[in-house]
Amino acid sequence: MSNKTNITDKTNSVPLQGVGVNSPLGDGDSTRASILLDDRRKQVSVAGANERTIDCNKASLAGSVSQRACVFCGSRVVLYPISDALHLIHGPIGCAAYTWDIRGSLSSGPELHRLSFSTDLQERDVIFGGENKLYASMIELIDAHQPKAAFIYTTCIVGVIGDDVERICRQVEKENNIPVIPVQAPGFQGSKKDGYKVACESIFKLVGTKNKPYTPAKSINILGDFNLAGELWILLDYYKKMGVHVNATITGDGRVDDICNAHNAALNVVQCSGSMNYLAKMMKDEYGIPSMRVSYFGIEDMSDALYDVARFFKDEDMMDKARELVKEEFSRLMPQLAWYKERLAGKKAAIYVGGAFKAISLVKALRLIGVQSVIVGSQTGTTEDYELIKQLCDEGTIIVDDSNPVELSHFVKEKQADIFIGGVKERPIAHKIGLGFCDHNHERKEPLAGYEGMINFAKEIYATAMSPVWKFTK
Ligand code: SF4
Repeated sequence: MSNKTNITDKTNSVPLQGVGVNSPLGDGDSTRASILLDDRRKQVSVAGANERTIDCNKASLAGSVSQRACVFCGSRVVLYPISDALHLIHGPIGCAAYTWDIRGSLSSGPELHRLSFSTDLQERDVIFGGENKLYASMIELIDAHQPKAAFIYTTCIVGVIGDDVERICRQVEKENNIPVIPVQAPGFQGSKKDGYKVACESIFKLVGTKNKPYTPAKSINILGDFNLAGELWILLDYYKKMGVHVNATITGDGRVDDICNAHNAALNVVQCSGSMNYLAKMMKDEYGIPSMRVSYFGIEDMSDALYDVARFFKDEDMMDKARELVKEEFSRLMPQLAWYKERLAGKKAAIYVGGAFKAISLVKALRLIGVQSVIVGSQTGTTEDYELIKQLCDEGTIIVDDSNPVELSHFVKEKQADIFIGGVKERPIAHKIGLGFCDHNHERKEPLAGYEGMINFAKEIYATAMSPVWKFTK
C-alpha cells in the first residue's frame, strides 16, 4: 500500500507540492511533501509560511508509526510516582516494562512504586480467564506490602477477554479496607492522552475522601510534576521561600493521604497540562478549586510560575519574596548562561516532546543560550499551543503534531539540526542519524526544572552539541 503523497491527488484540498510561501509546508523543500502521508499533511506547518491552523488533537493515522504510546502507558506514567501505593498490572509481563527506572520519579519516603507487579497472564489465563489469578495476586501483595491504596491496571488482553476487574477490586477493597482502584487502560482503546484521562479519573476517586486536621489557607496542589531527578524538591524550596504551603504533589513524590486531602487546597498549579488538566477541571467542578497553568522549564516561565501564584493570593509580601528570589537567581545565572550563549551561538535544535507547553518553554530556554529551534513538535499539543509556537519561533521552523520517525528523521536532516531534544523514543532517531540527544523526559537523571535546572540544561546541551564525537559520524 502506498500512502505517500501523490502530487496529482485532486481529492486533497491542500496543495501537495510543498513549495512557495503559500504552501502549507513552506518553501524550499519539495521532498518534504513526498515523505508525508496524505492525511498527515495538515498536521505539519511552517512558521511564517502560512496562516493555516495546524490540525491536531485527533487519533493517530493508521499506517503512521506514531511516537505516542498506548493508553496503559499514559495511565502508568502519571500514577507511577504515587510511592506508597501498590501498582499491579493485570496483563502479560511485557506491559510491565513501564516500571522500575523507566521513569526517574524519586520519592523522599516509601519506594513501593518502584516495585510494580504483574499478574503475568499466560495462554491458559487468556482462555479460562485471569480473575482468580488477579484476586490471589492482590491479596498476597497487599498482605506483603501494606500499601495505602492499590491501583490495578488492565491492559489490552484483559480488555479482550473481559475479566471483571471492577468487581474484584470492590471485593478486595472491602476485605482489606484500603482504596483499590481499577485503572481501565487497555492499550488499544486510544493513545497515551486517553491514558492520562484514565489516570486522572483514578486519582479523582481518592480526592476528597479524607480531611487532614489543618490545611493552611494559602496552600496549593502541584499537579503534573513527576519529580524526575528530584525536580519537585527544587520547586518546593521556591514555594517555601515565598510562604506558600504545598498541600499535595500530584503525582511526583505523591502520597495517598495527601491526594485524599487535595480538595482542601486553595489553588491547583498545573504543569504538564496535557496529563493533568482533566483532573484540575474535575476538582474545579466538584470542589470549586481554581487552577492555573505553569511551566517550570526555563527562567522566564519559572519566574512567571512564582509570580502567578503570588498574584493569585493577592499577597504583597509573597510577591516581594518571589521578586527577591527571582532577582537572586537571575544574578547568579545570567553570567553563566552568557558563557554558554557565546559558545552555542548558531547551533540548531529539534524539539519533539509529549506536551506542547513544554515545547514552548524549551524554545524560550534554548533562545536564552543562543540555540535556534528549527523543528518543534509534540504528541498531544492543542491548536492554541501550536499557534503560540508559531508566533514564538523563527520563520521557517517546522511545526509538527503527532509525528513519526520517518518525518522526524527527514526534518532533522533537512534543517541540519545539531541536537535533538525529546524522550526515550526519539533517542534512537537522533543516534541513528549521528546527532546529539538531550533526554527531556522519563529517564533523565538530571533535574532540568527551575533555575538550577536551566543551568543543567545549558550544560547538557553544550556538552552534547559540542562533543567531538559527532565529527566521526556520517
Ligand atoms: S499496547 Fe497493550 S499490550 Fe502493549 S503495552 Fe499497551 S496495554 Fe500492553
